[in-house]
Amino acid sequence: MTASEVARETIKQMAVRRVEPTPDNYMQIYYEIAGKPVKEDAASALRKALKQLPHDTLEQTNWINRWEKVLKQDNWQGLGELLTEAMQQQLSHSTKWPKAIRVLLQAWDDKRSGIDTARKRETLERVLINFGDDESLSDKLIGMANMWLPSEARVEGIALTDAADAATASTSQPVLDISSEQGLPSEVQQFHGAFTILQTLLKQTLYLGLIPRLQGYPDLQAEAVALQESAERAKKLKEWEALAKSLKALLMRVEVIGAQEDDVRGDIIDLLHLLLENIGELVAEDSWLSGQVYAVQSIITGPLDRTKLKQAEKSLKEVIYKQGLVKHSLIEARNSFKTLISTFIDKLKYMGEASELYSGKIETYAKELSQTDDLIKINELVNQLMRDTSVMQTDILRSRDDLLIQQRKATDTQDRIDQLQLELQQLSEVVRIDQLTGVLNRRGMDDAFQAEIARFQRSGESFSVALLDIDNFKSLNDQHGHAAGDAALKHLASVVKRAVRPTDIVTRMGGEEFVVILPKTDLQEAVIIMSRLQRSLTKEYFMGNNQKLLITFSAGVALFQKEDDVSAILLRADQAMYLAKKSGKNRVMTETDLVGSVNP
Ligand code: GH3
Ligand code: MG
Ligand code: MG
Repeated sequence: MTASEVARETIKQMAVRRVEPTPDNYMQIYYEIAGKPVKEDAASALRKALKQLPHDTLEQTNWINRWEKVLKQDNWQGLGELLTEAMQQQLSHSTKWPKAIRVLLQAWDDKRSGIDTARKRETLERVLINFGDDESLSDKLIGMANMWLPSEARVEGIALTDAADAATASTSQPVLDISSEQGLPSEVQQFHGAFTILQTLLKQTLYLGLIPRLQGYPDLQAEAVALQESAERAKKLKEWEALAKSLKALLMRVEVIGAQEDDVRGDIIDLLHLLLENIGELVAEDSWLSGQVYAVQSIITGPLDRTKLKQAEKSLKEVIYKQGLVKHSLIEARNSFKTLISTFIDKLKYMGEASELYSGKIETYAKELSQTDDLIKINELVNQLMRDTSVMQTDILRSRDDLLIQQRKATDTQDRIDQLQLELQQLSEVVRIDQLTGVLNRRGMDDAFQAEIARFQRSGESFSVALLDIDNFKSLNDQHGHAAGDAALKHLASVVKRAVRPTDIVTRMGGEEFVVILPKTDLQEAVIIMSRLQRSLTKEYFMGNNQKLLITFSAGVALFQKEDDVSAILLRADQAMYLAKKSGKNRVMTETDLVGSVNP
């Protein structure tokens, strides 16, 4: 058949076979009729070849996808780039491997690092297990070999760290002995590697994680030790199943203990709170001590924090030291005052005696003087008198000096005590305590709020806040004087402290306004507590200028909400307090009363 006959027959066949009239189909039938093998185009040949490539790893699949994409887009430039990239990789690979083998051989025989051949082989096995399938194997081998060489002989350009990790892993952990399993397929080797790592991890978890924590529980600890030992021996699946079962049972018991310990810790902290509260009441007068008590209280209210605990310990120790100094100085001061007084009395007595003696003498001299006319005798008498009076003068001067010295000593000691007490006050964060009433001041209040908000965030237990403002306080000041006003503030603070619960926190926000923080308390309970306080005040009169005076207050109560902050809740409490004032004073209102009122 001539070429044109073949072509004609091809077109006929395409019509008979009803195939689409595409160039591909034409070509296929043409070659069939001509009896020649089909000539494939480059793109489809490439596509077929790509299908035969391995798709095992992500990188392989990605690479094949990139090829398929450029083929689909007829992107011949992209194809060129892919080829260049592949060639460069191939080339760098082919230079890396000779380098890796060279440095490995060199390092293997190098004795300077002191690592013996057995250890080197272990490390090599481990690197092969971990990175055998990895593209980076040559790099890892160079890195590993570098570890065996002194620093000046090392080959550059390789991340040492991974290989170093692999190397240290092999020295600190027992390595699976696969020397007898050289011929095993790589999956089996990999499985062995993974097994060894997991086994080591389990032993370490028991040894470092669990066993030390079971100090107070010898039987559990013994069990954990036994488990650790059997993890060392267990080889068969059955043994591992039994081990897993015992481990699970042990962990369940440990969990129970953990929960119990948490409870115990909670109880101890509650007890400590109570104790501090107790001490706080007792030492209310000693402002530096109550400052310390408050500091410890606020630390144990938040989540326990070692640095904070250490800080509190340090400042307590410093207080104890300074208190020792004060005590010492007090004893010293008392002694020097005693000496001063006794010296003074002594000197007084002596001066009295002396002047009596001298006045007697002077009288004698005067008498003798009046009785004689003898100049020589007179001269003698005057000389004697001069001597005596000068002795008397020196005596008096000396006593004065003695007195002055004693006095200076005494005041010096007093100054030192004052200074020490001042330092103590600063040390003790007494700045958080209101000096007049002994309750927390504004700063202390802010801290207490932070602790309470933190507790709310942890436990979700809400708290209420009551803001109290004394009624007509200005007129009490005006009628009875500022000092009486101060005494009234002290009186109110002490009645409030006794009327609320030990867990409630009393603070003076400023002037004649107090804020009480009521943990775990809803509005209703807060109102009940405030009303109880009102009743206490009617029973416990304030004595001002020898008169029984009734102090009343107006209060506003608000409940802490999730989205609240300190100023938001104080604002609502203040608005409720203002409403109480407007409604006639001496009453308690809550934020819910605000809803119906216009412009509180
Ligand atoms: P209301 O019932 O509306 O609260 O009237 P009030 O007089 O209590 O309130 P006002 O705010 O008009 O006056 C408060 C007074 O409290 C004014 C101030 O002189 C006095 N004050 C503030 N701090 C102190 C203090 O530390 N000591 C004394 N003695 N008085 C204080
Ligand atoms: Mg006020
Ligand atoms: Mg007032």
